[in-house]
Amino acid sequence: MAVSKLQPWEHIAPVFDAGQRVFGENRVQEAKERWIELRDRIELRLIGPLQTNKARDAVAFFDVIETLDREKLARVLADEVQAQGKAPRLYVQVNTGEEPQKAGVTPGEADAFLAACREVYGLSVEGLMCIPPADEDPAPHFRLLADIAVRNGLAKLSMGMSDDFETAIACGATSVRVGSALFGAR
Ligand SMILES: *Cc1c(COP(=O)(O)O)cnc(C)c1O
Repeated sequence: MAVSKLQPWEHIAPVFDAGQRVFGENRVQEAKERWIELRDRIELRLIGPLQTNKARDAVAFFDVIETLDREKLARVLADEVQAQGKAPRLYVQVNTGEEPQKAGVTPGEADAFLAACREVYGLSVEGLMCIPPADEDPAPHFRLLADIAVRNGLAKLSMGMSDDFETAIACGATSVRVGSALFGAR
């Protein structure tokens, strides 16, 4: 996934022209402004925190939402899927480092949250996503995410960014989210 948030179009155009078709964005509104004209030609993934008041727009505009992390959001997304007759693929974000400033369910909450998504809200979750702490070896965090996925029967792992995607791939990532290494600094 090419993370195009905050990038000027001059940086994105060559990557698009070279054939990249999966892009990640942090904000619903910014994504709409950047991609509205090319929307049908790409797969678009939301990788930033989602407020419930943006859920309608997010379901309408994104193919994948990778930041499902609380029951209130699960409920609102389930309602929007019903209302719009359109279901984005979903990833649950896990706060593997249990950092207070970071979104995501804790590793200890993950199994129960995934069960609630399925059983209470009728949502089908495709995989897990994490952003390890910036100042730690990411490998244990990636392995932890992979363990949670295995025991919950999930095949997809969104993990690894510009600085650690090789490690993430070695730990089983099925997609990496690369921004600055492709486009330059934001
Ligand atoms: C910005 C961002 C990325 C890309 O980060 P780089 O270090 O530029 O590759 C990946 N994942 C998430 C969730 C992001 O917010």
